[in-house]
Amino acid sequence: MRLRHKPWAKDYLDEHAGIVVKEPQTKKGNWAGVFRNDNPIHVEVGTGKGQFVVGMSLANPDINYIGIEHFDSIIVSAVEKVVDSDIPMNLRLIRANGKDLTEIFSEGEVSRVYLNFSDPWPKTRHAKRRLTHEEFLTLYKKVMPEDGEIHFKTDNRGLFEYSLVSMSEYGMRLLDVSLDLHAEMPEGNVMTEYEEKFSAKGQPIYRLEANYLN
Ligand code: SAM
Repeated sequence: MRLRHKPWAKDYLDEHAGIVVKEPQTKKGNWAGVFRNDNPIHVEVGTGKGQFVVGMSLANPDINYIGIEHFDSIIVSAVEKVVDSDIPMNLRLIRANGKDLTEIFSEGEVSRVYLNFSDPWPKTRHAKRRLTHEEFLTLYKKVMPEDGEIHFKTDNRGLFEYSLVSMSEYGMRLLDVSLDLHAEMPEGNVMTEYEEKFSAKGQPIYRLEANYLN
């Protein structure tokens, strides 16, 4: 994702504190209170400009969505989408690093984690930054119930193969694997910005679902 300097981003995020939760660590264990219901909470780590979480929250009003993105200059685009589309209050955004997930959510608080078109970090020395590295898999496990699921989509074959191995070696169970998601035209698939871009170029989209039960 190209970073553009947006000096107004911080003020814009502050002005929309109803959407972008400030000091999310203070909500740990009380996200049901934030949403004012006990609906399941699904979290996208690396939400980018927000097309996926916005689309999902509109399509599934009985699920609460939280998009986490670590750059102000990118998350502002997600906030703009929320402002423009009159979204019901089942969506919140957090400006944070996915590494801090266990400071933001308590055990079992997140039912599902979405990873969409995560940065591939192809160099071996950067492997720990991949969102499917075992250290991240441990974090997701800590905030999900036993049957919590990870849903992952990418255009990057190298990252997909790495993730299959990483999750298998971690002892996770692969529930569903697709090597060409769009050939199957799955009902209810909400496309991300990157998914639109890469599928328009004819690139296959890889997808998997996995959980920690084995
Ligand atoms: N998910 C979006 C999509 O599919 O269109 C964006 C994909 S973009 C390649 C990856 C996004 O993940 C970037 O916006 C990046 O800033 C964010 N990101 C990467 N690592 C992250 C982390 N550890 N915590 C939070 N956001 C992260």
